[in-house]
Amino acid sequence: MPEGHTLHRLAAQVNAVFSGSPWRVSSPQGRFAAGALRLDAEVPRHAEAWGKHLFVHLDTRIWHVHLGLYGAFSFRGDSSFAAPPSIGAPRAWTAELRPRYDDDGWLIPEPPQGAVRARVQARHGWADLRGPATCAVLEPGEHALILARLGPDPLRQAPDTSATAERERFLENLARRRMSIAAALMEQAVIAGVGNIYRAESLFLESIAPETPSNELSASRAAALWDRLSQQLRTGVREGLIRTLRTEGDRRHWVYQHQGTACLRCGELIAARELQGRRLYWCPGCQLR
Ligand SMILES: [Zn+2]
Repeated sequence: MPEGHTLHRLAAQVNAVFSGSPWRVSSPQGRFAAGALRLDAEVPRHAEAWGKHLFVHLDTRIWHVHLGLYGAFSFRGDSSFAAPPSIGAPRAWTAELRPRYDDDGWLIPEPPQGAVRARVQARHGWADLRGPATCAVLEPGEHALILARLGPDPLRQAPDTSATAERERFLENLARRRMSIAAALMEQAVIAGVGNIYRAESLFLESIAPETPSNELSASRAAALWDRLSQQLRTGVREGLIRTLRTEGDRRHWVYQHQGTACLRCGELIAARELQGRRLYWCPGCQLR
């Protein structure tokens, strides 16, 4: 599942290639036909991410996307349809089209492939959304309701502040919960944007046992965990992938999907088990209660 860094990169990408000009919106698959009609010909003003949610603010409406487990955007266009290189492509990006243009000077897109829920099109390119968990036009007030249910997103705080309001909210959210810290990190109401990989890697690097009840984690350790996640997510936005193990070589993670192999720190075998439908990875040697 895409974690928060992917959504923030996606918002930056949408801003770079769509904001400020009218777009065309359709639903080649048909399931978003009515919604597409309401977004078509509007001007996207600003895209933002909060945790795993993407909101595109248009003149009069807001488009809401949650990729879920399988959703993805793909972007294609001519050579002028480009985001800054630092953003890169969320998925496929090819500029090797032989471009053809319609009478209004818009690039003629390729026929949609597969089940494209929504196609958004600018003059020089388009993006196809496939397989999202949510793709909806929000009614007035719904945006605020969704945000009210979401916990703080480490990527929405200023990068250089040490004790932020967001971090305080995270600490309060943990203090109110008896569920394990491993379960709490996956609750989007506790902290928004963390998924399975960041959960495993941050708990390992902070030497926190995954079964620790959230409200038994000291404030200083909870704060350190927030800071660790903030730093990891920011690196993820910058690099476009999750790489928590910063050593030479191809291996990117300390514990994630390394069950049964020796921990690089202590030599104990890395463990894995199911927790509420998602696999949890940890080192029983380093992450003692
Ligand atoms: Zn270990």
